[in-house]
Formats: sequence, C-alpha cells, structure tokens
Amino acid sequence: MIEKDSGFILRRYNFRETSLIASIYTYKFGKIRGIFKGFYSKKREFSSGLDIFSLNEFIFYPKRSEIWLVSHADLVSDYYFLRENISKAKVAAVIFNFIDKTMQLWDRNTYVFNLVNNCLSLLEEERSLKILYIFLIKFLTLSGFEPEFNHCLDCKSALSNDFLFSASKGGLLCRKCSGKIADAGRISAQASKSLLYIQNTDFPLVSRLNSTLQCEEEILSILKSFVSYHFGFDGLANIDIAQKYAGV
Ligand SMILES: [Zn+2]
Repeated sequence: MIEKDSGFILRRYNFRETSLIASIYTYKFGKIRGIFKGFYSKKREFSSGLDIFSLNEFIFYPKRSEIWLVSHADLVSDYYFLRENISKAKVAAVIFNFIDKTMQLWDRNTYVFNLVNNCLSLLEEERSLKILYIFLIKFLTLSGFEPEFNHCLDCKSALSNDFLFSASKGGLLCRKCSGKIADAGRISAQASKSLLYIQNTDFPLVSRLNSTLQCEEEILSILKSFVSYHFGFDGLANIDIAQKYAGV
C-alpha cells in the first residue's frame, strides 16, 4: 500500500552515512516514524530540507513494523519566522515536544493535526505565550480531559471569586468542596473565564482573547500543574511570564 499525506517533522536524527529517520505527525495516520533513505545524497525525491517544525507532503509505505519507508517529501511550509525569533521557536518546540511525548504511534487525530497547524499559523502574528495556552487548553479538550472551568466539579455551584483549581481532580472546586483536596489552589474568576473562552471558541476568533499579566500567570501555573500531573510532562518548566515583558 502506498499513501500520500501531510505531516510536521517533530524530531529527526541521522541514520548511517546518508539516511535520516524522523518522527512525523501526519494528518491521516497520527504520529509515524519514517526513514528517508539516501536523504544526504541529495536525492531528487526529497526536495524538502525536513527541518524540525516544517510541514511537508510525503509519500510513504505503511506497514506493521515501526519505521516506514518514505519515498518522497515536498516542503509545504518551513515557518521561516521561527528561525528569526527565539521566543516563538521556544514555544513551537514545547508544542512539538508535547505532541511527540503524548501521542502514541498511529493514533490518528485530525483535530490535533489541525490544532498544530492553526497554532503555528497564528504564532507568526500573535504573542507566543498566548498561543501556548491556546494550544494546551484546546489539546486537553480534544483529548478528552476537558478541564472544568465553569462550575464546581462536586456540588455544581456556579463560578465565583472564591474557587480553587485542582489538577488531580481536573477542574474547579468551591471552597466548601475543596477541603480534602491537597493540590487545590486558588484561581480567580477572570482566569477561569479566560480558560473557558479558549475552550469554547474556535480558530481564528480564539486568538482575540486579551488577558492581564496576573491572569496569564495563573493560567500558566494551572497548565504547568495539569500537564505535569496527567502527562508527566515538565517541558513548560522553562517557559515563564518574562516572555510577556519581552512583548512576544
Ligand atoms: Zn462545590
């Protein structure tokens, strides 16, 4: 069987003298591993440099073994702006690292593919930190976690300024219900509303969100604890609110 598909290069390493192996997040097959035989001998079939972050069209041969032979690769976009802006590249790296760590091989999810595509496109114009929040919140929603930001998980009372967020429980708790939950920490109604807005708003409208610095600090801290608890992902550790001051 031969297939044509689009995919982002998540990770790559050299193999023997002339070949390359890459983890690719594709539209139709989810994450795959591909081998590009003769990549470094400048084969005409590989017109793309296959850089990390790049989106390409591939022709490959799906099979049962882990690594699939890729026979053609054509560049669709190399997101050149990422090479000129370290903060944006740092956020793109977190997104790709997160996809690589959390998605299983061949676990197809076209919504996640479109999410990565939308986020990379918006990253050129928007502040990188905002795109990171949007990516993570949307990803959690699409992958079934869907943290609750609207009312108390236990008693269902409506959001107020006296709410707490628990990563282990996966959402908001009112003061009364949060008593025995060790990891519950205070969250402002404003931060909850921003998170809810991201959860419920489609692209490109979602990028209109404007949050205060304090609100962004809260969102970042909530997401850090959530992805660390549920995915064992600590790749947000080096992302901090300083990016906001740098205006990126
Ligand atoms: Zn409650």
